Amino acid sequence: MSGNGNTIFSLILSGEVPSHKVYEDEFVYAFLDINPLSRGHTLVIPKVECPTMDLLSEIAASALGMALPKICRAIMKITGAENYNIIQNNGEKAGQTVPHLHFHIIPRYPESTHSFVWNPSPIDHSDASKLSKAIFHELG
Ligand code: 5GP
Repeated sequence: MSGNGNTIFSLILSGEVPSHKVYEDEFVYAFLDINPLSRGHTLVIPKVECPTMDLLSEIAASALGMALPKICRAIMKITGAENYNIIQNNGEKAGQTVPHLHFHIIPRYPESTHSFVWNPSPIDHSDASKLSKAIFHELG
C-alpha cells in the first residue's frame, strides 16, 4: 500500500483502463465497482491521487462531500433501492485494497444478503471521557 499514484484507479482516471462512469466533475469521478456487492455498487473517488481520508485536501474533500448526496440520489432513483450503505476503508488492515481514497455506495434491496461484520461492545465511559477530550483538544 503506497499511494504513489500507480493504482488501478489512476489508470481508470486516465482512461487506460475502462470503467462504467456514472459521474464526473473537476475533482470527482464515480464508476461502477467491478465486483459489486449489489446492483449499482458505485465507487466515488477524488481525481487527486490520495491514499486515505486523513491526507485529503479540503478542496477535494469539499468536492467529494458535494458530489456524494447527488450520486446517492441518482443511484436510488435509477435502481429503485430505498436503502444503501456508504463504506470507506482506510489502510490495508482496515480492508482497503486499492490505495486511492474511495467511497463505496452500496444499494441494499429487499432481497440483498450481503453483510458487514460489526461486533460492538459497550463504551468505557472513563476512557471515553479522556479520549474525547484529547481528540477535541487536538482539533481545537
Ligand atoms: P477497497 O477494498 O479498497 O475498499 O475497495 C476497492 C474496490 O475496487 C473493490 O470493491 C473492487 O472490486 C474495486 N475494483 C478493483 N479494481 C477495479 C477495477 O479495475 N475496476 C473497477 N470498476 N473496480 C475495481
